[in-house]
This record gives sequence, structure tokens and C-alpha cells, in this order.
Amino acid sequence: MRVVVIGAGVVGSAVAAGLTRRGAQVTVLEARTPGAGTTSTSVAWVNANNKTPQAYFDLNHAAVWAHHQLPGDWFFPTGNLEYAVTDGHKEQLAARVERLVGMGYPVERVTARRALALEPDLVPPPAGAEFVFFPVEAYVQPLRLLGRLLGEARDAGAVVECGAEVAGVETSPSGVKVTLADGRTFAGDVVVTCAGRWTQRVAAMAGAQVPMLDPAVSGTVTNGFLVTTCAVPARLSRVLTTAGLNLRPDGGGRLLLQSLPLDGRADPAVPVPPDVLDAMLALLPDVLRGTDGAAVERAVVGQRAMPGDGLTVAGFADPGRRVYTLATHSGVTLAPLLMGEVAGEVYGEESPLLAPFRPSRFADGTAGPAPTPARRPGQQ
Ligand SMILES: Cc1cc2nc3c(=O)[nH]c(=O)nc-3n(C[C@H](O)[C@H](O)[C@H](O)COP(=O)(O)OP(=O)(O)OC[C@H]3O[C@@H](n4cnc5c(N)ncnc54)[C@H](O)[C@@H]3O)c2cc1C
Repeated sequence: MRVVVIGAGVVGSAVAAGLTRRGAQVTVLEARTPGAGTTSTSVAWVNANNKTPQAYFDLNHAAVWAHHQLPGDWFFPTGNLEYAVTDGHKEQLAARVERLVGMGYPVERVTARRALALEPDLVPPPAGAEFVFFPVEAYVQPLRLLGRLLGEARDAGAVVECGAEVAGVETSPSGVKVTLADGRTFAGDVVVTCAGRWTQRVAAMAGAQVPMLDPAVSGTVTNGFLVTTCAVPARLSRVLTTAGLNLRPDGGGRLLLQSLPLDGRADPAVPVPPDVLDAMLALLPDVLRGTDGAAVERAVVGQRAMPGDGLTVAGFADPGRRVYTLATHSGVTLAPLLMGEVAGEVYGEESPLLAPFRPSRFADGTAGPAPTPARRPGQQ
């Protein structure tokens, strides 16, 4: 089977690898360079921690385990340590823990002493804080994961075209023709759109309706600040989640910082405001010792790929089964699972995990409401 994959983010790269495992002849068309989209601005925390409804939790939970089946030097299975200080956060955390335990998700309530053994540079929060450890969670270096997936696809014969912006998709009973902005054309039996936050436009070229939240609108649902520090002399081995600041190691002694309460101001049209940077850096020494005076190496506004109801979209969008649309938030978590599940669907094997996420829900009006703006600890 000849398959054209549109988009070489982590999702398209995973799908390309999965398809070549099936023996497909794959061409990946990428408008810029692999990873140039949302994949390069991700916390890349692998988790199913606060994913609802049940079907979306099940998908992410399976994906967490899929990462553990694909070990490599991009993958850091060191878990996530969360602590709560305020009554509101403690209540929300307790309810989440109860729900996750009920769904068979590994969760450990831990003492302050154990938390400090896990993270010796943690600044001890006030007495009475609640600590929870999520041992199967992880983080990845997303571009290295992408490189691993796309490399496998390339090794198996996939052709990766960069600077290949798709401008048209035409289907016929005998196949699909993809036309680039520069006029080149590519023929296939099936096209899989993996265009991230550009999905609405690309799917529409093939006559498919996949509404995405507008990533140009500032605010917490689609956009978020990400700050990478210069190397700091502090010990941190895992994702650390608090009400004001989330952080994880980012290679070479750097830390990646995210502050969900500040994300309401994230506007992709403007650089990260200096007072936001100052506010984030001011939070850091209260959470992790050895970080006073940390300098900023990179500060960006990340733009999420968010389908209209916040949930994954996966499935053929046309009765002739020529156009498979795939778009999702949490794409870093989901990529190693989508690799096999989507390739299977292209080859005619329906995935029970993906069945609840068909694009037809937008056309038939059964899609749920758009996600609410406020993001809470435990969410990405
Ligand atoms: C602030 C932030 C924090 C996040 N944290 C997490 C997290 O902790 N855990 C997690 O799992 N996920 C997280 N995510 C989400 C995750 O990063 C994304 O879901 C994932 O990177 C999306 O990958 P993708 O391949 O779908 O999209 P992208 O990486 O955007 O790739 C899509 C590609 O399609 C290409 N393209 C678009 N249009 C065309 C066209 N016409 N022709 C050819 N190519 C085209 C683009 O150039 C791009 O390279 C976060 C996202 C943000 C913004």
C-alpha cells in the first residue's frame, strides 16, 4: 500500500514508522522541518494523570505503557512527584488519586521524607502538605523521540520530503493525489493527515470537517509559556508538579518550567513578557534548592493542537476510506501507541481504543463542548 503522511511532528513520525512496519510504501510530506510544529514546544510529560472521559484516559493509559515498551535514551521513566499545600489543591488531588486508583493507575501517596529521598533538592513545603508519586509516568526529549520514530521509518524505506507544503488533496475511487504549494504531486492509496494545529485547514482540503480550537487566540486552552533555564547546580530527576510551577529536567542541567496560572496571558503573537519570566523564575527557588539566580536560555509560547472538543480525532473521514485524519493534544504521550493502532486501522483493523474518537462526531453533532479555559495541576 502507498501511504502519504502529511506532517512530520511526533504524531506523523510515529504513524510513518507504524506503517512501514506493516510494509507500506510511505512518503512523509512536511511543510517545514520535522518537529518544527508543536512537538518542539512541549513539556513532553508522559501521563494519563488527569485525562477524562474514561475512553480518553484508557487511550492515554495504554500509551504510557507503550512508551515503556519503546525504551531508549530519550525516555526518562522516573515518575511524577506532585505535592499539594492549599486545601483546594489537596481536595482536588485526593479526588483524582481515588479516581485513578479505581481505574488501576499506579499511584503512591508518599511521606515528606520519601519525597525528599526522591528529590533531595526539593524545598520542603509547609507541614501538612500532601505528596503523591505517580511511578509509571515519565518525560521524554520530544525531538529525540521523533528522531527515533522517523529514523525507523526512513530505515524501512520511507521518503521524507521537507519544505513540502501540501496545498491540495484529491480523492478518487482509485486513490489519492496530493499537490504541494510548489506544484509537485504525490500519488497514494491513502493519505493520513497528521498536521497538528493546522489539521482543520489540511483536512478541509480533502473535504473533511475536523474543527480545531484556534491556536492564534491567546489563553490557557491552546497556548502556554515554556521556559528553559540555563544549566543550574540542582538535582532534579523527574517531573515535579505543584500548584504554581511544574518543572522537569531538560538535558545538560537545564530545567523546563511551566506555570499554568500564568498561561492565561500566553499570546503566540507576542514574545514572553519579561514580567512573566521574572514571575516564573521567582517561583523556582521556593520549589528547588540550587536554583537562585537561574538564567533563561529559551522562552516560548507553545501552541497546542487541540481538536474542538479537546479529545483525539482518529479515523477515516470519507466513505471511500482514502483520507484518515489524526489530530490530538497529548501527542507526545500518545505517539508510541498511535504508531501501531493507526497503522492497523489504515490496514483495515479497527482499534477499540480509537473507536470512540471518530471525526464523524463533528459532522453528526455528537461532539462534546470545547474544553474550559482553566487548567489545573495534573493537566497539560
Ligand atoms: C505548552 C505545551 C505543553 C505540552 N505538554 C505536553 C505534555 O506534557 N505531554 C504530552 O503528551 N503532550 C504535551 N503537549 C502536546 C504535544 O506536544 C502535542 O500534542 C504534539 O507535539 C503534537 O504533535 P503533532 O505531530 O500532532 O503536531 P506538530 O508537532 O505540530 O506537527 C505537525 C506538522 O505538520 C506540518 N504541517 C502542517 N500543515 C502542513 C501542510 N499543509 N503540509 C505539510 N506539512 C504540514 C507542520 O509543519 C508540523 O511539523 C504540550 C503542548 C504544549 C503547547
